[in-house]
Amino acid sequence: MSFELPPLPYAKTAFGELISEATFNFHHGKHHNAYVTKTNDAIAGTDHAGKKLSEIIKASEGGLFNNAAQVWNHSFYWLCLSPEKKEMPAELKSRIEADFGSVEDFKEKFKAEAVGHFASGWAWLVLNGDKLEITSLHDADSPVAHGMKPLLTIDVWEHAYYLDYQNARPDYVSALLDSAIDWDFVAQNLDGEGVSRADQG
Ligand code: MN
Repeated sequence: MSFELPPLPYAKTAFGELISEATFNFHHGKHHNAYVTKTNDAIAGTDHAGKKLSEIIKASEGGLFNNAAQVWNHSFYWLCLSPEKKEMPAELKSRIEADFGSVEDFKEKFKAEAVGHFASGWAWLVLNGDKLEITSLHDADSPVAHGMKPLLTIDVWEHAYYLDYQNARPDYVSALLDSAIDWDFVAQNLDGEGVSRADQG
């Protein structure tokens, strides 16, 4: 069994100028697709063939880790986005208020982590034990490899925003946090929903 590039859960034109069709063509059609192809090439004929993506991530290093984790991270990232502006479900809102003070404080802290992350990587909201935490990880690294439950991610590799925002990473992160996050999906991830959906690869 090999992994497949998951289809986007919305049209590539659905976000207008917020995320352009050209960005989806490259980011999903080229970058994500290449990670899928390279993962499949690396596991063919090995003990990893037939394993779940998260199992491969936990059991690998080097090139296979990088490609498998990038497949997982991107599949999860697409699910975090919504072309329609969504309200935050009450349970998630109260969890965020308990751990960050307010939704605005949470957004400020998440933005600071995403913007301040040096070079390529991913900003994450995770459940670590019973507590919500904001963190960022370098390159392909993923909370899946560290026993944390991912709730939300924003890709801060330049390929995620350079066509639409050039070097203005703060504008990209703000635009997504303010208008394009699927907070229903984030809330479902408290129960592990998104982890299993992204695990297909
Ligand atoms: Mn990316």
